[in-house]
Amino acid sequence: MKEIKHLINGAFVGSASGRTFEDVNPANGQVIARVHEAGRAEVDAAVQAARAALKGPWGKMSVSERAEILHRVADGITARFDEFLEAECLDTGKPKSLASHIDIPRGAANFKVFADLLKNVATEAFEMATPDGSGAINYAVRRPKGVIGVISPWNLPLLLMTWKVGPALACGNTVVVKPSEETPLTTALLGEVMQAAGVPAGVYNVVHGFGPDSAGAFLTEHPDVNAITFTGETRTGEAIMRAAAKGVRPVSFELGGKNAGIVFADCDLDKAIEGSMRSVFANGGQVCLGTERLYVERPIFDEFVARLKAGAESLVIGTPDDPQANFGPLISLQHREKVLSYYQKAVDEGATVVTGGGVPEMPAELAGGAWVQPTIWTGLADGAAVVTEEIFGPCCHIRPFDREEEAVELANSLPYGLAATIWTENTSRAHRVAGQLEAGIVWVNSWFLRDLRTAFGGSKQSGIGREGGVHSLEFYTELKNICVKL
Ligand code: NDP
Repeated sequence: MKEIKHLINGAFVGSASGRTFEDVNPANGQVIARVHEAGRAEVDAAVQAARAALKGPWGKMSVSERAEILHRVADGITARFDEFLEAECLDTGKPKSLASHIDIPRGAANFKVFADLLKNVATEAFEMATPDGSGAINYAVRRPKGVIGVISPWNLPLLLMTWKVGPALACGNTVVVKPSEETPLTTALLGEVMQAAGVPAGVYNVVHGFGPDSAGAFLTEHPDVNAITFTGETRTGEAIMRAAAKGVRPVSFELGGKNAGIVFADCDLDKAIEGSMRSVFANGGQVCLGTERLYVERPIFDEFVARLKAGAESLVIGTPDDPQANFGPLISLQHREKVLSYYQKAVDEGATVVTGGGVPEMPAELAGGAWVQPTIWTGLADGAAVVTEEIFGPCCHIRPFDREEEAVELANSLPYGLAATIWTENTSRAHRVAGQLEAGIVWVNSWFLRDLRTAFGGSKQSGIGREGGVHSLEFYTELKNICVKL
């Protein structure tokens, strides 16, 4: 049985308490590894190691030297691609076809993109007049924030964790990472890659454990953590914000959503169906950017529902190793309980179940897995729980609309604002509607098309701040103005 330890100051160490928890394969319920559970002592040791490393060789390196090391980290992930793929798929159950195209390559890219960005980024300078006539020059420099606490979720474990660790390290910070207890494997594996790439001890630390009253809370409460970056649920974000208030420490939050897709009758229906299939069902619907509410213009409503139903029923459910499978299990039996409770609520609230709504029949060896059926509903009221609350499962509700303004109003009606999709061939309408949607990211005739230089983040209760490209620098560095009197 694999044993997963913390990485503190360059060494893999177990917990002093000897406490461990099980890492479970969600496809069959089998235990993959025993993971050490960090207490306050381990979290404190990791934070102190990160603090000390700021003053070591890492803190003295030039931007290009750091960039070179981060390129080696990216190359190290690529060189061990199959191990990362295996680990990510064991932890999440997601199809290998998906993880090999998205999770692992993006995990490597996150280091290269930010290493290169830092090499070319400029700061501002201003000449100014002074009363004595001699003048002054202002120029700005960027400095690392210090020790960054990184708290990441289970849905895209390597991708979302490196999306934070990449820019944090490129900017010269050190990190303490707390991955989700559901998915510790790739975070641990990255520790080996970091060491082989020459990242100094204490720069990348990992503590495993749970959130509340455990490693997550101990890390966010730690006074020597200078800033906290977090991806996860909105309610968890509130708890972390309370912890960060002590010491007035900055946060960057990517939180929950209940994203809307608007499909106009003038869309290219083939594209809208293909895109909606991905935005609703990819990764078992466990994507923060996914669509759980679809608003379809009435003339094409019946055809759209019929075609999405056919698409959902054509998904091939199976394990990561099944080359035909494009639909895996949910992350855990606990999460399945939550998703199935919404499947029941939909029925209780009077939905028409277009397809799915239950648990698929699986072979005996997979019976312990967290499987659910891809599900589509129609006919619910706008205030129904299933239409207003984030489910984070492979399901959506589809509702007809008659007017453009009505669709915009429906899409904007919730307290979330992460992402939205618009399907139309009318360019003016696309720009007009995109401008009115209350969301941090709007896709027109596409979904999950990401350029890592662009701003990523949510509005309303879906987040605080933007990461991506130069926007990441606002969070991971302190901008200092130096004024020199001549
Ligand atoms: P959670 O908020 O439950 O957990 C995220 C991480 O926070 C985990 O590592 C968790 O630990 C930790 N955590 C939980 N409570 C605390 C606490 N009090 N203090 C410190 N850390 C804590 O989210 P999930 O892991 O369930 O991820 C799914 C959620 O993430 C969805 O709501 C989804 O919308 C959101 N998400 C948002 C994205 C975005 O970019 N906006 C992207 C991807 C997901 P543990 O669970 O191990 O106990």
